[in-house]
Amino acid sequence: MTSSKNTEENPKETQNQTPFVKQNKFWIIILIIVTLFIWSYYFTGLNYTEISYTKFKSELQKDNVEEVTLKGLEVTGSLKSPSNIRITKDNQIQFRDFITHVPSFGDEKLLTLLNEKDVTVNTEPKPDNSFAYTLIAFLPLLLIAGLIFFQYKRSQGQGGGIFSIGKNQAKLYSRSEEATKFDDVAGAESAKTELQEIVSFLKNPEDIFQIGGEVPKGLMLVGPPGTGKTLLARAVAGEADVPFFSITGSDFMEMFVGVGAKRVRNLFADAKNEAPCIIFIDELDAIGRRRGAGLGGGHDEREQTLNQLLSELDGFESKENVIVMTATNRPDVLDPALSRPGRFDRQVTVDLPSKKDREHILQIYAQNKNLDEDVKLEEIARGTPGFSGADLRNLLNEATLLVARNNKQAISYQEIEQARDKILMGLERHGLALTEDEKRLIAYHEAGHAIVGNILPHADPIHKVSIIPRTMAMGATQQFPEQERYIYKREYMQERLAIMLGGRSAETLIFNTATSGAGNDLQEATKLARKMVLEWGMSEEFEHMAPAGGQGEVFLGEELAQKKEYSEKTNQLVDEAVESILKQAYSRAYNILNEHRDALKALAEILVEEEEISGEKVDEIVGQKS
Ligand code: ADP
Ligand code: MG
Ligand code: ZN
Repeated sequence: MTSSKNTEENPKETQNQTPFVKQNKFWIIILIIVTLFIWSYYFTGLNYTEISYTKFKSELQKDNVEEVTLKGLEVTGSLKSPSNIRITKDNQIQFRDFITHVPSFGDEKLLTLLNEKDVTVNTEPKPDNSFAYTLIAFLPLLLIAGLIFFQYKRSQGQGGGIFSIGKNQAKLYSRSEEATKFDDVAGAESAKTELQEIVSFLKNPEDIFQIGGEVPKGLMLVGPPGTGKTLLARAVAGEADVPFFSITGSDFMEMFVGVGAKRVRNLFADAKNEAPCIIFIDELDAIGRRRGAGLGGGHDEREQTLNQLLSELDGFESKENVIVMTATNRPDVLDPALSRPGRFDRQVTVDLPSKKDREHILQIYAQNKNLDEDVKLEEIARGTPGFSGADLRNLLNEATLLVARNNKQAISYQEIEQARDKILMGLERHGLALTEDEKRLIAYHEAGHAIVGNILPHADPIHKVSIIPRTMAMGATQQFPEQERYIYKREYMQERLAIMLGGRSAETLIFNTATSGAGNDLQEATKLARKMVLEWGMSEEFEHMAPAGGQGEVFLGEELAQKKEYSEKTNQLVDEAVESILKQAYSRAYNILNEHRDALKALAEILVEEEEISGEKVDEIVGQKS
């Protein structure tokens, strides 16, 4: 098992929003302060006491008003000597400057009275400060509008928020100096050859049209995770020196039905404006799953999005110089309509790297790392079968971190080994307190795998056996092939099954029991045995026959709803065939262990002591004891 962590590089773009936001906050605060200031100035700043018109009239009658200013219906003024108004029962305030309002129907006698009492009267034009008033009245609204605007700006930058729904979310990588080139991708030679054609077309489309050639509009990169599909797509854009719209399938998916379809439309419209360019839809399986499959009916949003994508693919001409690339690691679940001619009809397979390619990939990522002189990349490449490019990169990164933790200067095999174990088996679980009995059970279980693996002739050599508990397993027996295989013989498969069941055999042989620790072994063995029967015709009952019809794995839901291609009777026979293969494998393992019981015991006891031993040590023990 290999675990691949997706260590995808982040696009180099200006996602850095912090200073902008900070600035916004600053302005918002300023705005609030100014508003409050103006507000208080106009409403409280002048220190007029608002009094009733009656009160004003009575003060006037008492001859206590010194002067007034009339502005429209507003009357402000000051008293000769301070007067009181009652607020509550036993609380009153004194005032001199006052403000009051003439009733809206007017008071004809006011002026006469003012004249009589010999009050100085100032008048000011009526529309006093209407601008300021309007401003004040609208400031709160402005403030809210401002806030919404800033929020909008922000959401645009971060690709979230209510306003960005339906917008084209593709990141546009424009021509940058640090563009990814084919040289940054190690191995994958056949894929590169295929892609080179696309590059030439994007560079000189005329050449191809002149000879009447047609260029594929859509191209699909297919391969296991971490093998560099995304990297290759970026390299095509880098080599051709054209803009590159990159979007991930899941980006189309939203809460609201129809949004994904709109995004697809916008993406294609934007791309046409930038032509020649590349649209890259990563992880196509997120939207491209077979329609009408799965339990509980289809997923409306997904299907609408997919339909839109299909019609966009149909809707533009190859003359438009837009190439649509996509990548997936689940081509089996894709809707067949996607690979029809004129759509993603060209498939480029990106395989797991071979040993030579692994060495190349390691070379790329070891460049800026400090490796011990005796560390040979070829050696590491040999010890990492099944690792993807992403895994290898991860391996060197982990090793670098370990160098720091081990207080060393350079990466040695020790760090490589530790890093590989971490990737293959997960982190060590230091805090786990196993009882002596549990530890012994695990030791015998692993020793069982190891002894069977050591004895059987076609098996891959054992690299090491460990009973250090880790997140993914309580113990492990690592085997690495001497050379890469592309085809497997029946004998190899049968022996593999025996090794897988060696753990359970040892439990039964020594302790006459069965543990839950064998669960994973049994699942894997059953899966392999089913494949042997259903796909490879390796059982006695179904020789030269593949009842599954080469359907491969299907995703959940469909698998359940799938109509079997064979009858119930055949189904029963398949189960029987699987069972018989597994039984044979088990008794083979059991017999070997029974025969090499001493070696098994010796190995298990050493394991209990040392927790981890090498393949050579296993050889030694088996050699001595038999
Ligand atoms: P995929 O899209 O196939 O899942 P990616 O392209 O995202 O894989 O690869 C993940 C990372 O692994 C890349 O960014 C790159 O660093 C590394 N990588 C994978 N394959 C290669 C390769 N052939 N050469 C160089 N680096 C690789
Ligand atoms: Mg990818
Ligand atoms: Zn096991």
